[in-house]
Amino acid sequence: MSQLRFKVVDEAFNRKADPVEIPKERPEKYYGKYVFNRQKMFEYLPAKTYEALCNAIDNKEPLPREVADSVAEGMKKWAIDNGARHYTHWFQPLTETTAEKHDAFIDHDGKGGVVENFTGKLLVQQEPDASSFPNGGIRNTFEARGYSAWDISSPAFILGNTLCIPTIFISYTGESLDYKTPLLRALNSVDRAATAVARLFDPDVKHVKAYLGWEQEYFLVDEALFSARPDLMLTGRTLMGHESAKNQQLEDHYFGSIPSRVEAFMLDLEIECHKLGIPAKTRHNEVAPNQFELAPIFEECNLANDHNQLLMSVMAEVARRHHFRVLLHEKPFAGINGSGKHNNWSLGTDTGTLLFSPGKSRKDNLRFLTFVVNVMAAVHRHNALLKASIMSATNAHRLGANEAPPAIISIFTGSQLAQVLDTVERSTNAELADLDNREGLNLNVSQIPEITLDTTDRNRTSPFAFTGNRFEFRAVGSSANCGAAMIALNAAVAEQLIDFKNKIDARLAAGEQLNSALIEELRILIKQSKSIHFDGNGYSEEWKEEAAKRGLDCETSVPLIFDAYQRKSSIDMFRTTGVFSEIELGARNEVKWEMYTKKVQIEARVLGDLAINHVIPVATRYQSILLDNICKIKEIFDADKAKSLAAADIATVEKLADHMKVIKNEVAAMVDARRVANRLDTEREKAIAYHDNVVPHMEIIRYHIDKLELMVDNEMWPLPKYRELLFIR
Ligand code: ADP
Ligand code: MG
Repeated sequence: MSQLRFKVVDEAFNRKADPVEIPKERPEKYYGKYVFNRQKMFEYLPAKTYEALCNAIDNKEPLPREVADSVAEGMKKWAIDNGARHYTHWFQPLTETTAEKHDAFIDHDGKGGVVENFTGKLLVQQEPDASSFPNGGIRNTFEARGYSAWDISSPAFILGNTLCIPTIFISYTGESLDYKTPLLRALNSVDRAATAVARLFDPDVKHVKAYLGWEQEYFLVDEALFSARPDLMLTGRTLMGHESAKNQQLEDHYFGSIPSRVEAFMLDLEIECHKLGIPAKTRHNEVAPNQFELAPIFEECNLANDHNQLLMSVMAEVARRHHFRVLLHEKPFAGINGSGKHNNWSLGTDTGTLLFSPGKSRKDNLRFLTFVVNVMAAVHRHNALLKASIMSATNAHRLGANEAPPAIISIFTGSQLAQVLDTVERSTNAELADLDNREGLNLNVSQIPEITLDTTDRNRTSPFAFTGNRFEFRAVGSSANCGAAMIALNAAVAEQLIDFKNKIDARLAAGEQLNSALIEELRILIKQSKSIHFDGNGYSEEWKEEAAKRGLDCETSVPLIFDAYQRKSSIDMFRTTGVFSEIELGARNEVKWEMYTKKVQIEARVLGDLAINHVIPVATRYQSILLDNICKIKEIFDADKAKSLAAADIATVEKLADHMKVIKNEVAAMVDARRVANRLDTEREKAIAYHDNVVPHMEIIRYHIDKLELMVDNEMWPLPKYRELLFIR
């Protein structure tokens, strides 16, 4: 059996870097080659159509039908010129991957042949069957049909030979069944709310955009090794495997030189990204062995999220060309760092101001403080919800583990911003009254009016950090659709800004000056949301205690964390911002619980199988070799001598037997726990039962298997070990 292991290890370790087809031109020539961007629109669409489409995109207006027909015609021509044969609506159901149903362009020509055809109707709207996508019961109440409708703010692109049209996906009755629909709603809401507040400082502002720059972490594993690990293949993570003697202790991987095989993969991936208009920019080794990161230049949130979704599928494809498998799971290997996807997020006006950037004038800084403090207030108010937005069966392995942000949301500000907040909070009314005479904010702190923030002041332990001109939501998981986090964050901030604006309006109506009204409200918010601000070590045990005292959400059970979506404060917030109805929230939670249960169920099955079919037989065989040896010792030597010579083997046999006994018992108990859980009525109860009663067995089983791995003859061990999986040559 071990023959297979040695063969694949050999294969993996001897593999050379695969060649990369490097385009002759520089990136600016092929960047966006497969994207129907404005340049292609201009080239392929009649002038009037081009204008109407740009107008609809810029002003978020619906596209008239005649225009859609004309766009479809031009888009088809461009797609065919670039080798496309099929088209698909490309959408983001609640499965954490994208969905596509391809149709060929062909139609009967009435003469026994075909013509290639593509109409505005096919471009704008389709009706894929919604019943096979997770929908949380919405299809039962209503109809199986779903609609996918073109999101004109995200350009169509060609993947392989298929024209992909980014679409939203909703039910027959208009409930969202995807991530894009609520994300667009949340972005609209934060646009309106932030614009209203931004206009207090600059009346020329017409729109505020949310920006997202994600940093995608991932692991690479050689395909031969991957195929020899059924757990990796079926669950995306290793369910067993003893730590390698060397892993990341020496910290020699982070920013280390990139192995040539990996560098070839990265280059190939970047070229593909650039052709697809994904502005991939940064790449480096991450902390754990075999762990890497890719980050693009930030973009508007909706497009950035599409690009991340697209990246995840392109990555998998390119990795195969290089005989790698990409692991996007948050925690593929126990004992070493997991992978996240930091979401760098900011708001910016159409007049070119980044709202979380301090400026040179007092007015700019009051604007800066207004937006930063409102974000802090929103995160404080909805800390449980934001945690729910990033939580999943897979990310749960990463959060709370010692290298990752804890399962508590807090905000890191850095000392300079902390000092500014402190000063505002403590300022006396006399100082405030004085403010208006001095036309602006000067609180006698050296940083004001010119706040220059030290962006190197980083705290890697914080799940939500202010980093100079943006916030970095670090708790997001590497396999997640960023949409979930971005929906919750943008909507929560929108709600907070609406509130804030109302309060300012009331003060102004009562005759207060704008500056003092702002400062007064900010002071209140800073005080109220103080408990969310934490600059210390988020990994420490003390923080968990402290956070609980502060009243922050400290729930660690994934199924219970999801409850936050159905709290009154969340329902109200999503209703006010028009992002989710209560029905949608209920349906989506059903999906979350169901997904959780299914993931744990699959892992439990795989672990049970591996334990019983792979590990126990090998351990038994090794035990029998030892027993054989003991018998032979007894045959040859006299009793006393034999006793001392065989003692070590006898002890090992007993230990092996003990571990095997626990494993068998635990597997049986785990199967029972699953049976009980499966009979429960609601998805929530099932998920809770899986969390409380199934997962603990898995942990015990793994512990004992990992012990066996250290004892059983290396030659016999069937699965590639961590030390073999984790070091690319
Ligand atoms: P880090 O040092 O945090 O790892 P990276 O360079 O890896 O930084 O990634 C930072 C990400 O943040 C990039 O995607 C970058 O484009 C993005 N970013 C920079 N400024 C902003 C901003 N104002 N809003 C959103 N994202 C931003
Ligand atoms: Mg970062």
